[in-house]
Amino acid sequence: MPSPRTKPAGPETFTLTGADGATVQVRVVRSARRTKSIAAGWAGPGLIEVRAPLATSQREVKRAVEKLLPRLERSQARRPPPSDDEAERRAQQLNARHFGGQLAWQSIRFVSNQRSRYGSCTPGSGTIRISDRLRVVPVWVLDYVLMHELAHLREPNHSPAFWALVNRYPLAERARGFLLGMAHAGHLPHEEDDDAN
Ligand SMILES: [Zn+2]
Repeated sequence: MPSPRTKPAGPETFTLTGADGATVQVRVVRSARRTKSIAAGWAGPGLIEVRAPLATSQREVKRAVEKLLPRLERSQARRPPPSDDEAERRAQQLNARHFGGQLAWQSIRFVSNQRSRYGSCTPGSGTIRISDRLRVVPVWVLDYVLMHELAHLREPNHSPAFWALVNRYPLAERARGFLLGMAHAGHLPHEEDDDAN
């Protein structure tokens, strides 16, 4: 039951960069019932929800979250696996950040029938599928795979132009290393994907 003294929660959000270089989105929920402390926890992959007193300035909230971030990142291993909606939201962020918001697609979803690939993209229908084995990887690695499939919306083949798009993602090289390591350990497919079809 919402308290009448609680300010209606407008979407107050900002982004932070974590220790691993990945972007974290912060959603602030203000409450008049909260007097002093600021509390923060994961509301989804790459999304932190902060509960703060009404009067706290956004600068104070930011500073508090920056302080809490290392502990939150350590606890991120216990986060719930990402849903299709979260993959969609992350893809929209990547589109805004690395493609000027100019990409359009129909659907992004996790599928269980991609055993030998991380994902696939059908540019004609705007359909992107991600192997559900990737639900276990850190969000910055998932972002890399999303970048790969998003880049296929522009460049169907694994051409130099294609890799130039993918490499707009700052952690591309690290993510490739991570995925290779996982593949060698037998936990993930070996191929990023085939050329888009
Ligand atoms: Zn590909």
